Amino acid sequence: MTGIRSGDGQDAVRRDLVIGVDVGGTTVKAAVFDSDGLEYSSSKRLTPRHLGPDAVITTIIDAIVELRAQLPEAARVRAVGLVVPGLVDAEQGIAIYAANIGWQQLPLRRLVAEAVGLPVVLDHDVRAAGLAELELGSGRDFQEVLFVALGTGVAAAVITRGQVFAGATGRAGELGHLPVFPEGEWCACGQRGCTETYASASALSRRYSAASGISDVSAQDVISRAVDGDPTAEGIFAEAVAALGRALVSYVLLMDPELIIIGGGMAASGEALLYPLNREVQAGLVWRPAPPISNGKFTGDAGRRGAGLLAWRALQEPGL
Ligand SMILES: [Zn+2]
Repeated sequence: MTGIRSGDGQDAVRRDLVIGVDVGGTTVKAAVFDSDGLEYSSSKRLTPRHLGPDAVITTIIDAIVELRAQLPEAARVRAVGLVVPGLVDAEQGIAIYAANIGWQQLPLRRLVAEAVGLPVVLDHDVRAAGLAELELGSGRDFQEVLFVALGTGVAAAVITRGQVFAGATGRAGELGHLPVFPEGEWCACGQRGCTETYASASALSRRYSAASGISDVSAQDVISRAVDGDPTAEGIFAEAVAALGRALVSYVLLMDPELIIIGGGMAASGEALLYPLNREVQAGLVWRPAPPISNGKFTGDAGRRGAGLLAWRALQEPGL
């Protein structure tokens, strides 16, 4: 149970709602939630990032306006939770930087709040997804969790003592940029051998294409081909598992989690990924047991669910 309830029964829950919006590099996903996390309606549209930040903001506003317009008259949207990738100053409501969308130092919370006439809370997409899994999904009843989003990039939400941890400057959880192979391939971030360079969905696809000459093979297909015995796919997938395994071994040694949750698009590969990954992490930990690694409950919907939770949380704070 999260969020506010006015105490006068089910009707009040149905009247009071929030909208959660998850802005990704590919899609903008939005949904209406009540205080129990029940989803009433949802929408998904492409992120027009090639048209620039203004077009992306317009898409966010359109998504909110459209969902609100579809609700019955008695329903009242109380707030909007908005989560975005990259660097976010949640306190100031600023989207500081996102390489895959192209905005910099954007006062996104204010811009959206003014346009839709609702209080808006802004936060980081992967931390919000981790929060959704912690409160409503696979991480329920756990206190020490690592949520890993494997998608276009690799990022994580560090959860300790039942709270999502952002770090001193909001940069905690950059599992994708742990340099796991010191002499490895260059990463777009400027370092060498980052986890993301080997283990993200785009890395699997790109590396398979470079090695085989076959383009447009998705990460999921690379994993399927590896399972089917394609030696090139096997090699690429084994390196991805090794890179991710090393990063997770480091995290386990440092933070001693009870559970590691895999989310993001690559979670769709299920046991084909989880089985070798569990084995890799167990093999990498010599003197201590490995925590279980399992899939999240919400997969691609975790971000907007977390955004909804953040909106309810913000409503409980004075001053919004
Ligand atoms: Zn990097």
